[in-house]
Amino acid sequence: MKILIVNAGSSSLKYQVMDMTDESTLAKGLIERIGIPGSCLKQTVGEDKRVIELPMKDHIEASKQMIMALTDPSHGVLESMDEISAVGHRVVQGGEIFTTSTLIDEACIDAIKDNIPLAPLHNPANLMGIKACLQVMPDKPMVAVFDTSFHQTMAPQAYLYGFPYEYYDRLRVRRYGFHGTSHRYVSKRGAQFLGKNMTDLRIITCHLGNGSSICAVDHGRSVDTSMGLTPLEGVLMGTRSGTVDPAALQFIMNAEHIDIDEMLEILNKKSGFLGVSGVSSDMRDVEKAAEQGNKQAQVSLDMLFRGIKKYIAAYAAIMGGVDAIIFTAGIGENSPELREAVLSNMEFMGISIDREKNRIRGKEANISGEKSQVKLLVIPTNEELVIAQDTKELVSQLS
Ligand code: AMP
Repeated sequence: MKILIVNAGSSSLKYQVMDMTDESTLAKGLIERIGIPGSCLKQTVGEDKRVIELPMKDHIEASKQMIMALTDPSHGVLESMDEISAVGHRVVQGGEIFTTSTLIDEACIDAIKDNIPLAPLHNPANLMGIKACLQVMPDKPMVAVFDTSFHQTMAPQAYLYGFPYEYYDRLRVRRYGFHGTSHRYVSKRGAQFLGKNMTDLRIITCHLGNGSSICAVDHGRSVDTSMGLTPLEGVLMGTRSGTVDPAALQFIMNAEHIDIDEMLEILNKKSGFLGVSGVSSDMRDVEKAAEQGNKQAQVSLDMLFRGIKKYIAAYAAIMGGVDAIIFTAGIGENSPELREAVLSNMEFMGISIDREKNRIRGKEANISGEKSQVKLLVIPTNEELVIAQDTKELVSQLS
């Protein structure tokens, strides 16, 4: 069975074809600048990299070009789209409606629309991708996989904010959490790596990339996570501030004569590593600047290390202990410096890192010190695989 995985943004469409007989990736593609001058499709098949520049006015046009690229006789991977059994779509916000991945039908599309107020930037883009695929591949079963659904197991004391209850009751203002597909994948894979079942373990998963979130996975269920109603809450990120005192916003807005939209633009796009270091949103640039003596760069790194440490200790406390800590995503997989800084001086919690084993980048590894009571792992994430597996499982039930 071959599955097409689609992740649509407002002007982009990422895709991948997976062969589920061995869960291998046959092709990966990225279409950028949809609806704006300079549209471009980049597809990778093994060593073959292809770039096609041509105008694509909308996601329907982009989906047609994706199909042409995948079925191209010399650079594609499919003889025809008949080889594709189903399409799995990434959807950011499933709200309280979607606790698992779901087959896409009219009711599902309406429910994703209902969640637009909770994710005004992401859900409309995801819907454009779904609708475009339905138009160009009307006979294919489609599945929606939500970033939020893994966290729907959280209890009210984890997901409620201290606002008047009516804001939850009427407006559904609460913690939803994100990166759920990644936290779910790495916690399951991490348990397999240890030869254990995730339902026997208390795991803390650290998804650290441009956007970062930490999750407490207690016996297989997400019981708390650092992102909230939106992906702005939690630790310091590439351009996002993470958690701040909400009253600081009024102070800055009054002093700088800016409105709430401008303030949120600053919190989402101009803060984090970029804002504090003044160097870059990319951790590699920030690390380089810090090595060269840039104090603001160093303090931005220290803020992230400290933030992650605090979540690890807090989540161990709410789970009554921790059996494994897992690092994933761009920074988590590739920065030994971050892992060492976060995990040092944690012996009081039974955590000790092996500095030699920690030198790896981008592959599965056990980096625990000999005496560490807590297993410390690096597990590269694979959200596309989870989307493909869920899609396969749901469409198999159709026949
Ligand atoms: P992601 O959003 O998962 O693609 O992660 C992007 C982040 O990973 C950026 O901040 C990159 O700087 C960071 N990253 C990627 N490779 C490395 C590396 N070798 N060392 C440190 N950070 C890295």
